[in-house]
Amino acid sequence: MLAAKRLILKSALLPDGWRESVLVEIDASGDIVSVTPDAKLSDGESPGGHAVPGMPNLHSHAFQRVMAGLAESGSSGSDFWSWREVMYRFANQMSLEDLESVTAQVYVEMLRSGYTAVGEFHYLHHQPDGSPYDDSVQSSLTVLRTAARVGIGITHLPVLYMRAGFDHPSPRSEQRRFINTLESWQEIVKGSGRLSEQSPNTEVGAAFHSLRAVPQELLREAVETLDASAPRHIHAAEQVGEVEDCVKAMGVRPVAWLLNEIGIDRNWCLVHATHADAQEIKELAGSGAVVGLCPTTEANLADGVFSFDAFSMAGGRFGIGSDSNISVGPVSELQYLEYGQRVITGQRIRGRPDTTVPRHVGAALWRGALAGGAQALGRSIGSISAGCRADIVLLDGDHPSLAARTGDALIDGWIFAASENPVRHVMVGGDWVIRDGCHRLETEIEERYREVVARLA
Ligand code: ZN
Repeated sequence: MLAAKRLILKSALLPDGWRESVLVEIDASGDIVSVTPDAKLSDGESPGGHAVPGMPNLHSHAFQRVMAGLAESGSSGSDFWSWREVMYRFANQMSLEDLESVTAQVYVEMLRSGYTAVGEFHYLHHQPDGSPYDDSVQSSLTVLRTAARVGIGITHLPVLYMRAGFDHPSPRSEQRRFINTLESWQEIVKGSGRLSEQSPNTEVGAAFHSLRAVPQELLREAVETLDASAPRHIHAAEQVGEVEDCVKAMGVRPVAWLLNEIGIDRNWCLVHATHADAQEIKELAGSGAVVGLCPTTEANLADGVFSFDAFSMAGGRFGIGSDSNISVGPVSELQYLEYGQRVITGQRIRGRPDTTVPRHVGAALWRGALAGGAQALGRSIGSISAGCRADIVLLDGDHPSLAARTGDALIDGWIFAASENPVRHVMVGGDWVIRDGCHRLETEIEERYREVVARLA
C-alpha cells in the first residue's frame, strides 16, 4: 500500500526497544503500514526529538473537569460521598453546549500532556430535568463529535445506571440525567456504535456504573447482549462503604462477584479495584482483565491505595485514567501510582524477584500502561508498529530534564524529573494535533471553557 505520510524519527520507542533513524510509513486512514529502524536517508518529515507511543487514557468523565479544584473547601469530614453531591450540582446544570465546551477543553489538555486516546465513561445521557433528548443518542453524539473536532482517539462507553444503591431500587432525583432502562441504554450503545463506524479513531464499548447502580441480574442480561469483543468497563470497588454494602446485600465482595458470576476476561476493565483483597487481586491478575488505575483522583477523593505491587507480581495488567480530571496527564498518574507504592513499601526500585535486569521504573510503567490502556480501549493503539494507529508523542530533545539521556532513561526523566511539560508534537491517526505544544483550536476552546466555568462555578 502506498504511504500517505513518511516520518523519520530520530529516536523512537518500538516494541523491541529504542531504535534510531526510524522510518514510519502511514497510510491515508492513519494506520502505520511499516516501521524501519536504521533507515538510510529517505524522503519524509523529520520532526526531531524522541518518539514514544501516545498514552491511552482509559477512564475519563470529561464534564467533571469544570469542577476541578472547586470542591476543595468545606467542613471537615468531607469524603467521596460529599464530593459526589458537589459533582451532582454541576452535572445537573450543564447543557449539551456546556458539555461540549468542557469536553473540548479537557481533550485538548489531554493531547498536550501525551494522551492520544480516551475512554469516555459517559453517564450524562439526558436533559437536566431527566427527560430524554429528542434523539436519545444526542449526548453521546456531542462527546463523539467533540473528540473528532479536537482530534483525540476515543472509546465511547455509554454507562448503564439504574438505581441509587444496593438497597435503593429507585434512583435519587440528583441522578435523573444518568438513568436508563436496559432497553433505552442499549439504544444509546447501538446508536453510538453506528456513529463510530464513520471514523477509524473511534470505538464504542459499554460500561456499567457499578454493582451498586446496576442490579446483578440486569448486569448479567446486559453483558449477554454485547458484541463478543466489545470493551466493557465498570467501577469495581472504589470505596470501603460500597464494598461493605455489597457484602451485606449480596454476601460477597464486588470484585469476587464479578470474577465468579460474570466471568471477567480480557475484554473487561475494572476501574478502581482499589479495595480488592489479596484473593481478589490474585484472581483478577489471572483473569487477563485490565485494572484501571486513576491515582490522582483516587488520592484526591481519599479512596485508598490499590495493591499495585502484589497485582503486578501476579502478572496483572493495568492502565491509567484521569477519571475526575482533577489532574490531566499520564505523568501525574504514573508518579502518584509509583510514589504511593514507595511510601507504603519503603522501597524505591521494586519488581518481580526473578528479574535481574536493572529496571527503569518510569519506562516500565509507561510500557505497562500503554499495553493495558490499548487493551481496555479495544483499539490498535499503544505501539509504534505496523497495523497500529499512528498515535505518536514527540518529546523535546532539548528539554533540560531530558538532557544527556537516551533510551528508557528519557522516560524516567519525563515522569520523575520534568516539572515542565516536554511534549512538543503529538500525532493522532497520522494527523498532527499538537505542534510546538499548541493545538490549533486552543484559543477559541479556552474562551468558551472560561465562560462555562464562570457561569457554573
Ligand atoms: Zn469514574
